[in-house]
Amino acid sequence: RMVIKIIENGKELLPSHADVSSISFEGANIVIYTNNKEFFLDSNGVIKSIVSEIKKRVELRPDSSLCMGIEKAEIEIKKLLPKEAGKTNIIFDPQRSQVIIEAEKPGIAIGKAGENLKEIKKKTFWVPLVQRIPSIKSKIIENIRNVLYLNDDYRRKFLNSVGERIYGNRKKEGKTEWIRITFLGGASQVGRSCYLLQTEESNIMVDCGVNVAASEDSAYPFLQAPELKLDQLDAVILTHAHVDHSSLIPLLFKYGYRGPVYCTPPTRDVASLLCLDFISIGQMENKKSLYETTDVKEMVKHTITLNYEEVTDITPDVRLTFYDAGHILGSAMAHLHVADGLHNLMFTGDMNYESSNLLSSAVTKFPRLETLIIESTYGSKDDTVATRRESEDYLKNVIKETIKKKGKILMPVLGVGRSQEIMLILEKAMKAGEIPNVPIYLQGMVWDVTAIHTAYPDFFNSRTRQQIFHKNDNPFLSEIFKHVGSQKEMKQVIEGGPCIILATSGMMTGGSSVEYFKQLGEDPKNSLVLTSYQGEGSLGRRLQQGEKEIMFQEGRKQIPTFVKMDIHSMHGFTGHSDRNQLMNFMHRLNPRPKKVLVVHGERSKSLDFASSVHKGLRIETQVPKNLETVRIR
Ligand code: ZN
Repeated sequence: RMVIKIIENGKELLPSHADVSSISFEGANIVIYTNNKEFFLDSNGVIKSIVSEIKKRVELRPDSSLCMGIEKAEIEIKKLLPKEAGKTNIIFDPQRSQVIIEAEKPGIAIGKAGENLKEIKKKTFWVPLVQRIPSIKSKIIENIRNVLYLNDDYRRKFLNSVGERIYGNRKKEGKTEWIRITFLGGASQVGRSCYLLQTEESNIMVDCGVNVAASEDSAYPFLQAPELKLDQLDAVILTHAHVDHSSLIPLLFKYGYRGPVYCTPPTRDVASLLCLDFISIGQMENKKSLYETTDVKEMVKHTITLNYEEVTDITPDVRLTFYDAGHILGSAMAHLHVADGLHNLMFTGDMNYESSNLLSSAVTKFPRLETLIIESTYGSKDDTVATRRESEDYLKNVIKETIKKKGKILMPVLGVGRSQEIMLILEKAMKAGEIPNVPIYLQGMVWDVTAIHTAYPDFFNSRTRQQIFHKNDNPFLSEIFKHVGSQKEMKQVIEGGPCIILATSGMMTGGSSVEYFKQLGEDPKNSLVLTSYQGEGSLGRRLQQGEKEIMFQEGRKQIPTFVKMDIHSMHGFTGHSDRNQLMNFMHRLNPRPKKVLVVHGERSKSLDFASSVHKGLRIETQVPKNLETVRIR
């Protein structure tokens, strides 16, 4: 094959003065290292013509022997970066002749048309890469970047081996003839999403999550199914960071998987945070944890991040493209182009066909699409939720009334997604004077995830992006938001004046939302606002149903909380499409798929939705069960 030929006979295809020292893969990308300084600085269109001939990304870098000494280069780079770029960190990756420049203002560090980077290349013979330092300090991002920097030698070898698998000899001779999907979890249910896509050449897993609401024997996907052989798994694709899609991926690494995990950059960071949290929740409940911190680290080491609409080969016969799913920061729909166009299918993951304050709505236009695997969390005819506008007005009213009484508003939230959406709503309303100016306290996980958001403004919708980049007004940095990081600070919040508190967990199954409730629940001045789905048996559900006496275990004693605070629940802030939006999404899809598999919903809801799609759009539909295999072609 052409690409292999390039690797083997690099010097033949490249002009002799290119003086190639080595050629290697970085995943699906091809990197050529040259010994010729002039050729590195100006390859005169040679690289461009190779790219257009072989239709793969090709990058030219200097051989490490050309790179300026690290100490000298660091001084030189600091001189070339404008002061206005803010704080910067400079990290060298000698394995790949790259220098990573972390900057508070990446746009300014890069310069007009990349002029600063060109200058750095010319002066130091290092290839600069610029990354954003999050505006709010994030420990998890620092840790993840450190894992990647410290393992650069391993990363280079790993990325090369991924490329060899993609472009090397096929396992099976001949063309791909069949495609099948086995549902290992998340079919006819919400939770433990896990799908296995197979062709005679490839084995690819999409998502691997846990069902937190279920008992232990039904919380995990069927990883022991005969279709799944971990040593033959080529790739894992992660659609988004929520635990019911991501939290068992480290377990695959514990069992010995060492292949790539594909996701967007924010998904990598948030998923790592949630996996570490998953371990510590297990420890608090005195359960033996399924995996260790080192397994999460292995996951990070093997992650390959892709931006939306960046097309990448992941095996010899499968090409992956992520599209914006509108569900949470970095959430993606995974589009797979199989066997040079034999078939195109897409997993929606969780998706929202409505633009929120923070995110754009899910994409509906694709180059080709024959089979769609779609979520149906709110798929039944009764699942029409209040509009976002109605919910926002209701929330503002509750806040006004509560503060008038000098009370506090407690909002139990999921760490990822809705909490940031609600932050934007509150910030806007306060600025416009629609609700009184009171502090908004963010507890633990909510703060950490918000910090990750400030590293990835490119993943917000264009309105919020404009506000940040053009008006220099980042709502997440507003002074109304206060971090509550210790028991002492929590006590001050409880004893202080009127305020709004965002705390996890969203269903009040544990975490600081429950601690606040114990302290605030007996005061009729206060209000509780539930915004997320409340699972059967959760404290949130019991309060929704009007229970007035809640018993809590304190040491050996049972202590009651007599509920006197106002209880409100609203559903308009969900990150999922409701029934109408799901149908609108189906009608808008371009092209219209020939077959639709409905997953990620209670079976009755999935069946209801599938039947409406079949009747309304005349598309063949199917609602698979767990452990079922569906042949796509
Ligand atoms: Zn989700």
